[in-house]
Amino acid sequence: MPFTQLQTELDERAAQGLLRSRRTLESPQSPHIVVDGKSYLAFCSNDYMGLANHPHLIAALQQAVLQHGVGAGAAHLVSGHSDAHHRLEQRLASFVGKPAALLFSTGYMANLGTVQALVGRGDTVFADKLNHASLNDAMLLSRAEVKRYRHGDIAQLEQLLEQTKNGRKLIVTDTVFSMDGDIAPLRELLALCERHDAWLYVDDAHGFGVLGEQGRGSLSHFGIDSPRIVYMATLGKAAGVFGAFVAAEPAVIDTLVNHAHSYVYTTATPPALSIALLESVNLIEQGAALREHLHRLIEKLREGLADLPWKLMQSDTAIQPLLIGDNLQALKLSEGLRQRGIWVAAIRPPTVPQGTARLRITLSAAHSEADVERLAEALHELAR
Ligand SMILES: *Cc1c(COP(=O)(O)O)cnc(C)c1O
Repeated sequence: MPFTQLQTELDERAAQGLLRSRRTLESPQSPHIVVDGKSYLAFCSNDYMGLANHPHLIAALQQAVLQHGVGAGAAHLVSGHSDAHHRLEQRLASFVGKPAALLFSTGYMANLGTVQALVGRGDTVFADKLNHASLNDAMLLSRAEVKRYRHGDIAQLEQLLEQTKNGRKLIVTDTVFSMDGDIAPLRELLALCERHDAWLYVDDAHGFGVLGEQGRGSLSHFGIDSPRIVYMATLGKAAGVFGAFVAAEPAVIDTLVNHAHSYVYTTATPPALSIALLESVNLIEQGAALREHLHRLIEKLREGLADLPWKLMQSDTAIQPLLIGDNLQALKLSEGLRQRGIWVAAIRPPTVPQGTARLRITLSAAHSEADVERLAEALHELAR
């Protein structure tokens, strides 16, 4: 049988507590979800601003479908680029303070297409070891040489840059690290780029909408801006909808339009999504109260979990991982919470390094303080 070996490999993964499977959500995304017929208080979405089920976005999408139909019907370079896409690109560019922007279907595709279009054979990509998997895949696809530096280790990165004499140099980093919640030292990274004539590609999947003035993202958070920075953010997390964009100098954007395969060779997203996203950017811009509430929740969680036998990792963002270490113990804790009606995902290798399995707790502006108290109580019960 050709597939018996696959089953053996799956069985081995299961024995190590590494087998992944899906649960089926039967409600909209929100802190209170229904999974397989049971209600849970959930701490595992990336819907940081609580917009995924927001009435304004629902209304905007309903209206937009009546006006724009459902499918785009073609790629952007053929006949799929609608005025809705175009308006959203302009709005996003000005929102994050860049001259131009380009919409992609997903963040994964934005990373693949951008890195592949900007560097190739003879060039070098420098990457933080904890970068998102899509960035790692993007580097491999680009065929550039890959040099990875220890998480946040600017000194090591500088050495690697000094050793690199030829070709283009592109530093690639998550802004908020998706499984850790800490923020990359963007100011120092930009200074290195200037000293070594390199570009900086930042993946702001977890910063856009939550960090910076009016949720403008990580560049605004650090108050930095440079034509060397190519900015990427996703629109399915804090923005609550779907998609991603890259914002940069016009020459970069035009290069992507011409050379990013994951932009050129794919159908445009439904234009109605762009209309909903225009409304989402408005809500983000006016979302100061939501962001303040989110920060109160983060403080409350950190206080509430301070005396557990497991430690929260160092993080000021909505991603608050509780470090467990052992895969099976992380699964067991996640299961214990589930029995108490609370949903928190256990994250295991290869998503995170060996021996660092964790509960990835994420907070949303849609959570209440009582929700956070309930999680803290359940974890204290499980610790006893
Ligand atoms: C989620 C995520 C992506 C992928 O974005 P999608 O729109 O979900 O494909 C890319 N980078 C990071 C850091 C992410 O967390």
